[in-house]
Amino acid sequence: MEIFDVAVVGGGPAGSVCAAFCAAAGLRTVLIEREKFPREKVCGDCLNPECWPILRQLGIDQRVREAPHATLASVAFIGLHDRSMEIALPQGEDAEIAIKRSIFDTLLLDRASQLGAEIREKSTLTSLEKTNGDWKLTIADAFACRAQVLVAADGRNSTVARLCGLLPHIGKERVALQAHISLPPHFGNKVVLQLLPGGYSGQAPVSEGEFNLCLVGKPKSIRTLQKWAIEQFALSTAQQWRTITPLTRATVPPAHRNLLFAGDAARVVEPFTGEGIFYALRSGVLAATATARIVQENSTDATAEYAAKHTAMYRGRLWINTLARSAVVSPKLGSILLDFARFQPALLRFLTRRIVR
Ligand SMILES: Cc1cc2nc3c(=O)[nH]c(=O)nc-3n(C[C@H](O)[C@H](O)[C@H](O)COP(=O)(O)OP(=O)(O)OC[C@H]3O[C@@H](n4cnc5c(N)ncnc54)[C@H](O)[C@@H]3O)c2cc1C
Repeated sequence: MEIFDVAVVGGGPAGSVCAAFCAAAGLRTVLIEREKFPREKVCGDCLNPECWPILRQLGIDQRVREAPHATLASVAFIGLHDRSMEIALPQGEDAEIAIKRSIFDTLLLDRASQLGAEIREKSTLTSLEKTNGDWKLTIADAFACRAQVLVAADGRNSTVARLCGLLPHIGKERVALQAHISLPPHFGNKVVLQLLPGGYSGQAPVSEGEFNLCLVGKPKSIRTLQKWAIEQFALSTAQQWRTITPLTRATVPPAHRNLLFAGDAARVVEPFTGEGIFYALRSGVLAATATARIVQENSTDATAEYAAKHTAMYRGRLWINTLARSAVVSPKLGSILLDFARFQPALLRFLTRRIVR
């Protein structure tokens, strides 16, 4: 059986960044990923500007800039009665961009591999065991390995959390649909967040000719939202859609001795504010730092430090995400707030700048 210092489950932004920094620190690192990359993922594809320093640290900011993407100049909020408000986004080198996850996530995974992480794609974690303090991972009966530290970066429906009995109960939850379609003519370089009866839609160009279309709603309203999108964007009924649920759930405590949770596996935020990738990248970095301290220094306080830094990462911005969630769960209330903001534009500008800075 192969033995590693750290096993990272999940090759999304959290897992790839964590594996990259663990490998760069000299740890024997394996990353286990269910899919074969490049793969798409239900997402609005928008990168918050705060991702740039992490991409620079990883040495792939230039590669991201060279890949097909769209630079977003503004965000337009549209209410139920089509009244809208547009707010300029920061420009320059560290502007907000939209990039397809098939491209972005592959750049990150490749970087982890270049830095020395062993990547195992098409490998689904199916069982976990703890023996003599180490983790034993089994991948669909085909491969097994042992690791001193386990990092769960396997997304909102985390298998690791489920196998450890830590996955919160998910009641009736909303659903998201997402498609890449042809860029509508004259759409412009903006991201649109549109409240609709029963949910909302996010729209953004992702390259010169492609467009990301997301719909979020309750199960009972999602087909109506899809019908709206088909009419609005003149889509074929054969259009391919990807889907995911839940949109929100309770948090999994991120640190348990030699088991760390990063990205969506630990905490899922409302996608309306487009911050999930930033939290995934940042928690991946923090988990790598903690892992290196556990393995190389035999540190007993690295776990608690990870938990504290993980909490601190959300400080000062989570309340805006919670406010956004209240507004989108009830689009009527959201529209009233938006009407109010049209007369107090400084308020919406302030909230946007707190998130996109
Ligand atoms: C509708 C919607 C729109 C969004 N829009 C945005 C946006 O515009 N900007 C933004 O920043 N965020 C957005 N988000 C949030 C963002 O997509 C997530 O926060 C981000 O993908 C989290 O990254 P992660 O690495 O934690 O998990 P993921 O990206 O989910 O990666 C998890 C990986 O783990 C793998 N995996 C799962 N189970 C196993 C297993 N058992 N074995 C092996 N591998 C496994 C999966 O295949 C996957 O590759 C959006 C989310 C939704 C739902």
